[in-house]
Amino acid sequence: MTLAHNLGFPRIGLHRELKWVLERYWKKEVDRHALEEEGKRIRASHWALQIAAGHDFLSVGDFAWYDHVLGMSTLLGVIPARFGGAKAPFELDTYFRMARGRAPTGNDTPACEMTKWFDTNYHYIVPEFSIDQAFQLYNTELFTQITEAQQLGKPVKPILLGPLSYLWLGKAKESHFDKLTLLPKLCAVYQQILARLEQQGIEWVQMDEPILVLDLPLAWQNAFRDTYQHLQPKQLKLMLTTYFGGLENNTALACNLGTAGLHIDLVRGANQLPEVQRLLPADKVLSAGIIDGRNIWRADLRQALTLLKPLHEKWGDRLWVGSSCSLLHSPVDLSVETQLDAELKSWLSFATQKLHEIAVLTKALKQGDSAVVAALAESDQVVAARKQSTRIHNPTVKQRASQVTPGMVSRHHPFQDRQKIQQALLDLPLFPTTTIGSFPQTAEIRQARQSYKAGKMDEMSYREQLRKQIAYAIRKQLELGIDVLVHGEAERTDMVEYFGEWLEGFAFTQNGWVQSYGSRCVKPPIIFGDVSRPKPMTVEWSAYAQSLTDKPVKGMLTGPITILCWSFVRDDQSRFETAKQIALALRDEVNDLVKAGIQVIQIDEPAVREGLPLRQREWQAYLQQAVYSFRLASCCVADHVQIHTHMCYAEFNDIIEAVAELDADVITIETSRSDMELLKAFESFHYPNDIGPGVYDIHSPRVPTVDEMVNLMEKAAKAIPLAQLWVNPDCGLKTRDWPETETALRHMVAAAAFLREKYAEYDRSVKVSQRVVG
Ligand code: GLN
Ligand code: ZN
Repeated sequence: MTLAHNLGFPRIGLHRELKWVLERYWKKEVDRHALEEEGKRIRASHWALQIAAGHDFLSVGDFAWYDHVLGMSTLLGVIPARFGGAKAPFELDTYFRMARGRAPTGNDTPACEMTKWFDTNYHYIVPEFSIDQAFQLYNTELFTQITEAQQLGKPVKPILLGPLSYLWLGKAKESHFDKLTLLPKLCAVYQQILARLEQQGIEWVQMDEPILVLDLPLAWQNAFRDTYQHLQPKQLKLMLTTYFGGLENNTALACNLGTAGLHIDLVRGANQLPEVQRLLPADKVLSAGIIDGRNIWRADLRQALTLLKPLHEKWGDRLWVGSSCSLLHSPVDLSVETQLDAELKSWLSFATQKLHEIAVLTKALKQGDSAVVAALAESDQVVAARKQSTRIHNPTVKQRASQVTPGMVSRHHPFQDRQKIQQALLDLPLFPTTTIGSFPQTAEIRQARQSYKAGKMDEMSYREQLRKQIAYAIRKQLELGIDVLVHGEAERTDMVEYFGEWLEGFAFTQNGWVQSYGSRCVKPPIIFGDVSRPKPMTVEWSAYAQSLTDKPVKGMLTGPITILCWSFVRDDQSRFETAKQIALALRDEVNDLVKAGIQVIQIDEPAVREGLPLRQREWQAYLQQAVYSFRLASCCVADHVQIHTHMCYAEFNDIIEAVAELDADVITIETSRSDMELLKAFESFHYPNDIGPGVYDIHSPRVPTVDEMVNLMEKAAKAIPLAQLWVNPDCGLKTRDWPETETALRHMVAAAAFLREKYAEYDRSVKVSQRVVG
């Protein structure tokens, strides 16, 4: 029988129930029992939705307290030594300590690294492997959750991250070694897991191997063959799931791994279908990932059926219908949105609706179109309406985007010249200190925003509140002795949402939350139409902040690629076209900031790297477009205006040349968690402009010492000329509290002072020749 399934449901809960209970648990406001009860309730509610939609399996293993990769690490007993290894019985607090550096019980310990999950804005906790890494069945929560689901009387499909993808995503720590040498030991534990699932009466296991859509080295391709040959359980069937792209050169490999089924992503990898059809052995199940797990547009059911019907003819009951990838990347339920207008709302579909779309398609295949007449008619009508809607097209915007000249995407003079002019103006010391933009979002400001949005506070009072926050942030920074200040971003809940709210062509949900990391969620805007800027967006706040001090205050904008990457983007024109429209809107803002007396402007592009296509041959085109968009937004300024950018990751090697092409005068980046890993990138490439490698991991509540920060800077100084270095945290501080922020920044300023002192003699000449002359 053709089956309907999903590759995972969002775990955070419709009203972010998981977030709230986690945060209360971390603050010791609720105990472990209460946490677990809430987890149970959340899982049960998601299974109820799958049952209501008529799915043939309940997904289990998609729930995670913080992250499913961390869940895998604990299931496999991959607990780094600094957390005590996997000796004592599993403790949930160890799991939280690995994620956050601290937990309600036990000692603070530096957290594990966190990085982006493929090209999404979801972050996973990077597994750490030692050369003699042991694996063992350790955290058994998965098996308990399976029992929970089984009580509902439906077949259960556990989801595991497959051994190769798990290994690929982890990191060899301490010494360098080939991770593949760990594979036999790792697979032995997967065998045990599968045996246990078999005992639990499971028929199908979803084995996620998303790395099959990447460019895989030969050794890894071979490892796939070996592994899956040995991983064939007797009774169990494996559904090998691939997503986020097409299999391309891995098609033959994936088709012939001997698993009972193969899932392919027909949204991002639609063109892989003919080849998969040709190569997949006829006795296997083909799972068609036809409903987009990564965007919010309602499916064109008629078009989907046109694609599925020939598959159904060929594969018959061995065709399954599913989401392209896990629905983790979609908001939970559209039906609770009460403020979207009816027209726009009719164009959309969130995870709960996607479950239904999958079910409708499955039903149509099994019983014919006549069984789903109403759903098809509705879908047809929506498709037609969206194509014709006049809300989407703005001729002025389209024309402006088509008339960009080369002069608009290049600064007037090279960095060396600009740098002298900027230094003469700003007169910064060696190792200048700055922060990344946001300061703690206090309860006060959150409350004010809530009252304002609820209509309980008038605009005047709300602005007064914001001004108070800004004044406080400026005062604090002056007290701390920071060199380049920020206004603190009190007016923003989110760096993309804020701009989207000011721009035409964007729409917002009230509850469209998507997990970013742990308890943190984002509410991506929906870019549905041409983008333009009716009026200035940030000038009032930056100008006010600058009026309070003689020190430079950085204007703070979110870059075009990040706005694109962190939004749900329209699918009726190229992403680059949309990026250009956003860049032009930002360009107007940059001009207005300069007019208001701002001399330093930061344009954040934390998402550039995650937007990198998964296949290398597509990188260059993407990076060119990213560089073009950034420059279109920033290159309107005179030489004296210092343009900063910020990126939040250490994996710089792949893109460093493009980052240099952005030609920002200063870049601040995240490095502290990965212990200055970025330095690798600087061994072969001499980054020309200024750079601030982060010395304070803002994702962790732990406050680093002065020594730790000095050490990190010393490491950086080995690879980067001193005169180019800035001292700053990894990222914005909005998720932290004021007391810890103050202590950390005091340490940071002290670290910079120490370094200035230490290198005063050594570097003065470089500093003078590079910066002050002219
Ligand atoms: N300016 C932003 C902030 O400080 C940057 C956030 C980010 O890089 N994700 O909050
Ligand atoms: Zn950042």
